[in-house]
Amino acid sequence: MKTQLERARVGEITPQMEEAARYDDVCPEFIREGVAKGNIVLYGNPHRTSRVVGIGKGLRTKVNASIGTSPDIVDIDMEVEKARTAEKYGADTLMELSTGGDLREIRKRVLESISLTVGTVPLYQAAIETTRKKGSVVDMDPEFLFDIIEEQAQEGIGFMAIHCGVNLLVLERLKKQGYRFGGLVSRGGAFLTAWIEHNKKENPLYEQIDRLVDIMKRHDVILSLGNGLRAGAIHDSTDRAQIQELIINCEIAEYAQSRGVQTIVEGPGHIPIDEIEANVILQKRLSNNAPFYMLGPITTDIAPGYDHISAAIGAALSSMHGADFICYVTPPEHLALPTVEDVREGVMAARVAVHVGDMVKLKDKVKDADMKMSIARRDLDWETQYSTAISEERAREIRKSRPPMDGDTCTMCGKLCSLKTVRGYYQSYLEKSRKKSVAAL
Ligand code: SF4
Repeated sequence: MKTQLERARVGEITPQMEEAARYDDVCPEFIREGVAKGNIVLYGNPHRTSRVVGIGKGLRTKVNASIGTSPDIVDIDMEVEKARTAEKYGADTLMELSTGGDLREIRKRVLESISLTVGTVPLYQAAIETTRKKGSVVDMDPEFLFDIIEEQAQEGIGFMAIHCGVNLLVLERLKKQGYRFGGLVSRGGAFLTAWIEHNKKENPLYEQIDRLVDIMKRHDVILSLGNGLRAGAIHDSTDRAQIQELIINCEIAEYAQSRGVQTIVEGPGHIPIDEIEANVILQKRLSNNAPFYMLGPITTDIAPGYDHISAAIGAALSSMHGADFICYVTPPEHLALPTVEDVREGVMAARVAVHVGDMVKLKDKVKDADMKMSIARRDLDWETQYSTAISEERAREIRKSRPPMDGDTCTMCGKLCSLKTVRGYYQSYLEKSRKKSVAAL
């Protein structure tokens, strides 16, 4: 079986490329060319039918929602509801990151419940099942880890975050710089760090990269190179250890692509806003423009309860500077497992953020919606405002909950509505500009 990348390289436009082109309103050839160059990735796993979106250069920034149980809270129905909510509110992909309960059963239920492309971190399952059987993640057998990766690939997982870049060299760099203010926060990164330090051996995912790439290729799974040493504190951002891992991940991305495997490189993490552009430039230069996946990023450490806002600021700037894929953050980040409502809030915050970034990255292509909304507001055309809103449901809900005395306006200013106050004086000009703006849309 040839991967989407291999098929793109020989000039073939696949049904998946056509679907991705329709989703982003670009021509299929644009997608094919991006996939062939390794600048765009899309779902290619033949084991499941999934909605296909393209992630990468020249396309709208995509939003991932992560869900999953924890050892403390295992409620499969709630996780299924979260997955459905993420899809309903417009997430482009979903990561199933359960760490508590029957991991296979949860994944199966989630995969059956939604049509989104689903991603995982297979190391979680390998580490958790090892801990249950043997007592500690450091006893994990690399053979078992590779078996889990293959098993999940066969289930139709579209992309896997795999921490190949956490290796002896990177950990040496971490020790030389004197550890960190915020410690290590990536679960995958922490599992592997403990395994490497305890066993005094190289990361098997790095040492046996050929074997990993073979599995990804066999099932056309997108290899998302995890940022295992991403900073979990603003004051650790863009440090030597993170950059060392980025260099290694970009080398692996180049190798995997040369073998026909679609590849993403993951980034921060926690980062101040003035370092976002540099991180995007570095990743893009070092990886020859492989799609860049930003986790949040969270832009201050002092906003627990509001981390979806802190991350939305980071996401807007990331997408503006060229990041292609954003993992949402929910309000209880750093505090508790998200609820269904938290998932809705997280998805909407990230969607607003990437739209703001895309208005700069993609210019008029996404700005048209803003012009349509402006005209509808000026004209007090509420139905068009609702249908143009990023969440029609929320906009309707709020206005309906506090209806105006004058049906045309809203209760913000009521009869003092500025738009209505001056409209009569400018009717003739309004008609002219209305025609001009409608023509522009
Ligand atoms: S009442 Fe005020 S806020 Fe509402 S539409 Fe008119 S100007 Fe806008």
